[in-house]
Amino acid sequence: MTDIIQLLPDNIANQIAAGEVIQRPASAVKELLENAVDAGATEIKLIVTDAGKNLVQVIDNGNGMSETDARMAFERHATSKIRNIDDLFRIKTMGFRGEALASIAAVAQVELKTKRAEDELGCSIEIENSEVIKQEPCAFPVGTSISMKNLFFNVPARRNFLKSNAAEMRHIIDEFIHVVMAFPQIFFSFTSNGQEVFHLESGNLKQRITQVLGNNYNAKLVSVKEDTDYMNIYGFVGKPETAKKTRGDQYLFVNSRFIKSAYLNHAVMGAFDQMIAKDSFPSYVLFIDLDPSQIDINVHPTKQEIKFEDEKIVYAFVQAAVKHALAQFSVAPSLDFTLNAEIQGLESISKPFTTDKQQAISSSSIFKTFTQKHQAHAIDPTEKSELKHWKEFFNPAANAESPSTDPASRISHPVSPIPHPEPRISHPESRIPLAQLHNTYIIVSSSNGFILVHQQLAHERILYEQYSAAAHGKPMPAQKSLFPVTLELAPADAALLEDMLPDLLTIGYLVEPFGSNTFVIQGTPADILQGDEKKSVELLIEQFKHFNSDMKFSKREKLVRCMSRQLAIKSGRQLAQKEMQVLVDELFQCNTPNITPTGNPTYLEFKEDSLDRMFGR
Ligand code: ADP
Ligand code: MG
Repeated sequence: MTDIIQLLPDNIANQIAAGEVIQRPASAVKELLENAVDAGATEIKLIVTDAGKNLVQVIDNGNGMSETDARMAFERHATSKIRNIDDLFRIKTMGFRGEALASIAAVAQVELKTKRAEDELGCSIEIENSEVIKQEPCAFPVGTSISMKNLFFNVPARRNFLKSNAAEMRHIIDEFIHVVMAFPQIFFSFTSNGQEVFHLESGNLKQRITQVLGNNYNAKLVSVKEDTDYMNIYGFVGKPETAKKTRGDQYLFVNSRFIKSAYLNHAVMGAFDQMIAKDSFPSYVLFIDLDPSQIDINVHPTKQEIKFEDEKIVYAFVQAAVKHALAQFSVAPSLDFTLNAEIQGLESISKPFTTDKQQAISSSSIFKTFTQKHQAHAIDPTEKSELKHWKEFFNPAANAESPSTDPASRISHPVSPIPHPEPRISHPESRIPLAQLHNTYIIVSSSNGFILVHQQLAHERILYEQYSAAAHGKPMPAQKSLFPVTLELAPADAALLEDMLPDLLTIGYLVEPFGSNTFVIQGTPADILQGDEKKSVELLIEQFKHFNSDMKFSKREKLVRCMSRQLAIKSGRQLAQKEMQVLVDELFQCNTPNITPTGNPTYLEFKEDSLDRMFGR
């Protein structure tokens, strides 16, 4: 018997290792941008073509590299950022593993041009399959340009695994945003297929946030800032009215690194408790800085997860800081500041570690929110003026509606209802007048009892079946707008909408691209009221994002679900007798009348015999 174990050749080993770091074009974007930041650049340009599948290039005006370093940079475990294991716990730079460039060189064709200020000539290197194929001096301004071409050209299985351009673009934009948010003092630009998508002048954080997330945030940001010995927090939270149906605009950074933390997200959400609807999400861009020895960023290869030495303290600080900010700007008149007793009792909260630190900490405002029971800003909990805002958000269609509109028109549709093959439940007797309870439930008498219909959920089911029929068969006619509305979106949303256009058309939205990140709404389904076009498309995008993580649905199915949810008449709306009748009739003509697309019941049935039993008869 011969021995069978062999060492893998270097380039194969590199390709395998690369899989951890470079999964898609966006991973290269992140690594290259971070390297440029680490190199002290004040201007960084990102260029991609074909959603990065063809080219990802980052040009910076940072320190540049010597000729030797330029070659070394592509070796695995080559880094200028740590020297020994202890350094790992003092990381201040974005990169540190020395794997990014080696990984990129293993799975793409790479061109590097770089020059330091002290060198007369720069150096240019070309690499393929981890091997230098060309190296020569070149004229180049101070800084570095790295191009990554034809990602996975040598790993076809991985290349095939890449998603559509629109999907890869979204990942790239996400990574881009994570970096640019953390470094507002740096100029960034982003060009895709020759078109400049972002042009971000250097400025302060607030300017950067509005540059990236849109001007509508301008007057709606509340500053958060608390400094203590243990950690600092700064950044902005959106006023409650900016809360969204999706986690969209939530950004948390620890030591300038974007991280995902359900735990800390919960802390922020908790601070907004009672101010926003239960199923909506506050917007925030928050930065936590703390001693690098208090965290372990080494837990995840792409470094989006993080371990804190003492998670509970961080949680309490974040929450208190956000509460404090909301209270100071009197956004939250009804907050009470009692901290969870468990956290209050933590040693590090109740007893600062040394007396001089104690002095420093106790003068900081956040410490007061932890220790003082009766803060100056304790406010009367009966005032809840801000609460109405989320209700408006919650029910935009109802608010936009003009009183003169015939409400019945919102329930009738251009598509004839699908005939129901055989009623599965006893058919309601529509001759008996229907009653509405709490502007939410409709009581319908049936042949052997009664049915309690939930108006919103029932209507969602009806619309769902009508829109799915339209999406899979005869498209819904679009109602042409007399005055086409233009819609300007954040780049990420624009990419998303672009992707949705064909499906939108099937359900009656005639939306056309109109230059960079701008669209014109030419027509909408007949159910959308004039004047609501823009809001309706924006809401669709929001909800669509919400569904986006749900892989099991096709794009079209997601859209149909969003539409029906958006347009369903809401609980709390008073309905006329005729409206109730149309609603109930259409519900029982549905293929599956008894549940919503997400599986909630649309009505409850109370049968005579069980009613009798309940009354002991
Ligand atoms: P890491 O960032 O973890 O050190 P990388 O593989 O990303 O590892 O980069 C390796 C090294 O190459 C870096 O430590 C740095 O010294 C150098 N380097 C990479 N990109 C740049 C750049 N844009 N400008 C200057 N030096 C760079
Ligand atoms: Mg790096």
